[in-house]
Amino acid sequence: LAKVEGKNQYKAYSSVKDIKTFKAFSIENSLHKAMDMKEFELYYQPKIDIHTNQIIGAEALIRWNHPVWDLVSPKEFISLAEDTGLIIPIGTWVKETACRQNKKWQEEGLKIVPIAVNISAKRFMQKEFVKSIERILKDVQLDPQFLEIEITETSLMENEELAIEVIRQLSELGLKVSLDDFGTGYSALSYLKQFKVDTIKIDSTFIKEIGKNNQDELIVKGIINLIHSLNINVIAEGVETEDQLTFLREHKCNQVQGYLYSRPVKAKEFKELLKKGKIDINLQNKKVIEDF
Ligand code: C2E
Ligand code: MG
Ligand code: MG
Ligand code: MG
Repeated sequence: LAKVEGKNQYKAYSSVKDIKTFKAFSIENSLHKAMDMKEFELYYQPKIDIHTNQIIGAEALIRWNHPVWDLVSPKEFISLAEDTGLIIPIGTWVKETACRQNKKWQEEGLKIVPIAVNISAKRFMQKEFVKSIERILKDVQLDPQFLEIEITETSLMENEELAIEVIRQLSELGLKVSLDDFGTGYSALSYLKQFKVDTIKIDSTFIKEIGKNNQDELIVKGIINLIHSLNINVIAEGVETEDQLTFLREHKCNQVQGYLYSRPVKAKEFKELLKKGKIDINLQNKKVIEDF
């Protein structure tokens, strides 16, 4: 890895930090092209009613089909996109694509469900954010109740007052708002009263410890009870095993999302799932196949 130093002088760097920087730099360059080249794609992961196995919604997750790199995780390139401002065109593309796709499925007579999009913290706090959502919904002619917004707990903490106001505006428009990755931030539980969200998503790090870590089990139980007492809907993220599902059922968690039911899938595949309306899992034989 070479870097220009002074007048046409090259110096080799080998530290991990520089390699990371180089990778970030390359990703950033390619990100600019990715929009034009139509390299982004939305995958959809079903949200499931824990008692009926019915599909009650989906989360749209961005994928980058880069011509050379196999798979760049959204975690990696979304944070870079935030730093460079590219998050705005990318975010708009995500919302537009999800809304258009949903509208199309509705027109085709498929089961009508809300589709959630993830919103980066930075974007959420920007002035034009709510306006841009309004414009998209109007353009696509989608009823606002079928667009859901997922925001992380940590992003709300950056500016609580503003966050409360943005959530209020979104609710007023008729959108649903979910609190993503719950439990990973500072999660002062008392704040939950202020943030008038519709759903709270318990982060997968807690779900993974079910059956392994008694303390985390207690936390999950406690979170579910607390959320219910506030009349907020609760969904568990990253459910992979039958034991986790059983635990969540016993403790009255009403919705789940995870590989046990389905990975995020391409639009075409999600359409097939929607046609059936539900996902039946044969629990005894169900094995979650390792990530490819
Ligand atoms: P997230 O919103 O919390 O999404 C859940 C992540 O967990 C997704 O990873 C999903 O594929 C994965 N997942 C779902 N079920 C399971 C499971 O059972 N086991 C395991 N191991 N993983 C599961 P993904 O798609 O890689 O996305 C990672 C994060 O990147 C998302 O976390 C979200 O914060 C962000 N992201 C993804 N798409 C977008 C987007 O369009 N816009 C923005 N701003 N952020 C996005
Ligand atoms: Mg999410
Ligand atoms: Mg999450
Ligand atoms: Mg997450």
